[in-house]
Amino acid sequence: MTDATPAAPSPAPSDFIRDIVAQHVAEKRYPQIVTRFPPEPNGYLHIGHAKSICLNFGIARENGGQCNLRMDDTNPTKEDVEYVESIMQDVNWLIGDWADHCLGFKAHGQTPVTVSVNGQPDFQIPAHFPAREKSVALEPFFASDYFDQIFEYAVALIKKGKAYVCDLSPEDTDKYRGAPDKPGTDSPYRNRSIEENLDLFMRMKAGEFPNGARTLRAKIDMSLPNVWLRDPLLYRIRHTAHHHTGDKWCIYPMYDFAHCLSDYIEGITHSICTLEFEVHRPLYDWILENLGLPRPLPHQYEFAKLIPSHMIVSKRKLIHLVNEKLVSGWDDPRLPTISGIRRRGVPACALRRFAIGVGVTKFDSMTDIAVYEHAVRDELNSIALRRLAVVDPIKVVLTNIPAGETIEVDAVDNPQSETPTTRKVPFTREVFIEREDFAEVPPPKYFRLKPGGEVRLKYACIIKCDEVVKDAAGNVVEIRCTADLDSRAGGPNSGKKVKGTIHWVSAAHAIDAEVRLYDRLFTAAEPDAGGDFTKNVNPKSLVTVTGKLEPSLAFATQEQRFQFERLGYFTLDSKDSAPGKLVFNRTITLKDTWAK
Ligand code: ATP
Ligand code: MG
Repeated sequence: MTDATPAAPSPAPSDFIRDIVAQHVAEKRYPQIVTRFPPEPNGYLHIGHAKSICLNFGIARENGGQCNLRMDDTNPTKEDVEYVESIMQDVNWLIGDWADHCLGFKAHGQTPVTVSVNGQPDFQIPAHFPAREKSVALEPFFASDYFDQIFEYAVALIKKGKAYVCDLSPEDTDKYRGAPDKPGTDSPYRNRSIEENLDLFMRMKAGEFPNGARTLRAKIDMSLPNVWLRDPLLYRIRHTAHHHTGDKWCIYPMYDFAHCLSDYIEGITHSICTLEFEVHRPLYDWILENLGLPRPLPHQYEFAKLIPSHMIVSKRKLIHLVNEKLVSGWDDPRLPTISGIRRRGVPACALRRFAIGVGVTKFDSMTDIAVYEHAVRDELNSIALRRLAVVDPIKVVLTNIPAGETIEVDAVDNPQSETPTTRKVPFTREVFIEREDFAEVPPPKYFRLKPGGEVRLKYACIIKCDEVVKDAAGNVVEIRCTADLDSRAGGPNSGKKVKGTIHWVSAAHAIDAEVRLYDRLFTAAEPDAGGDFTKNVNPKSLVTVTGKLEPSLAFATQEQRFQFERLGYFTLDSKDSAPGKLVFNRTITLKDTWAK
């Protein structure tokens, strides 16, 4: 569990799915509530998946139930172990400290067993182990572990006369299917005998036919208004190795066939998915009901996707950004992938709080990115250590402090904590301040440093600008000031007020670090509204500078979160930072710079 921050106790969320589950719990309809989170390992998880993870694991957790992490891996051409591993890492990070209570896992190598219920063979994962030991590594479920069982269920459907092998080409299959307003046409292969269907299906499995030559289809009704019920495909031929089952199979079940059966085999009670699957629900039910399965059937419930503004949440489009090198990889801190969000420095509990806070509804709508950013700021404000850092330095010489003298000043680590601690920060003759905190020709109401003006260096003292030194080209290279050392805390002049306070670091003590100033990846609220979303990439979404940091930051650790005072929240980059070559990522600015 990488992020040790405990989940803040908050009132249990409530929504229409939780209401349904509560009703079932009250009725004692199931011995235990079992949900699942079923990503297809064809890309990295994103912020939308975080909502689904929090919902599925949350419901299990709130009801003393179990949630299975299941790889929905029925399409070998697009899937990969790299994705399986990233999904496990991301889920573990996001709900790590919930997992001990509700994460379903299987003993190593466990596969479904054949049980006999009322004389009928049936398959199930024999036992659940919801209270896992902390030392047990997360091992996900794989739909592909059920390929044998799913195949048997297909054979059972054929034997019942409810599935047939069809020789229509993919194009003709589409043509025969019709359209929502136009009934389909029966396939000429629809009335094959059960014997012929069984024979052909076995030969499909044995690899006798090339890709696309034949399919197995459910025999439902080609005239139904719901096109998903017009003899949908159950199996197709794909002579492709699978990341989990290797070369064992050359036929693969379709998503709709595999999903309901995987749910059933695992004893899922509530199969929660997003709204686009609503039209698939009759097929989900048809398959399970027509197999005449002996145990209680799972049911599907749908909710609206999370669609955050200024983000792309589609694996296909995220892959495009990665492949076109518009970002540095799946974990680029600008991406809304869970790995990008983690690398950017967002604490898991902030992402969870957002994913839960957006609520669960039946209506698609866009969530303002500002809601997410607020959740991130809110969490970081309470936990981040305040530090002094300058990202665009200009030198200030305090002429009345002797060279070589170091004055130690006390700086507060986090004013939000109940008992704030302080640290010593060196203050010397030469300091760096932020270039934009000095104006030679100040605009009206400019309260920072200006010729002849005074400003407070935070935690140190008030300084007065006496002289500006320029290079031959007229650029300001140095500002010479007098420090009012009596205005330090506890000094005779400590009560003196000035309007501006700025941050600084001692030039002699400052450490250099690469600072990556991240901003929103897209300038448009709906990046793909106008067609090509890559045109909306924010050219300033990453600005890299060399910052001057207070010396204590040399000991920063990966787990720590920092507020560089007046600049924003920062964290060490998990990939590129090394001792002696620090790289900090800006997680987020202190204020919403995009708001009007
Ligand atoms: P994408 O559209 O990004 O390719 P997907 O739906 O194909 O996503 P899956 O791996 O199938 O990705 O998703 C796993 C689960 O996460 C599914 O139950 C899906 O409904 C849910 N999910 C996917 N995107 C979102 C989202 N934006 N908001 C909430 N849940 C989501
Ligand atoms: Mg999907």
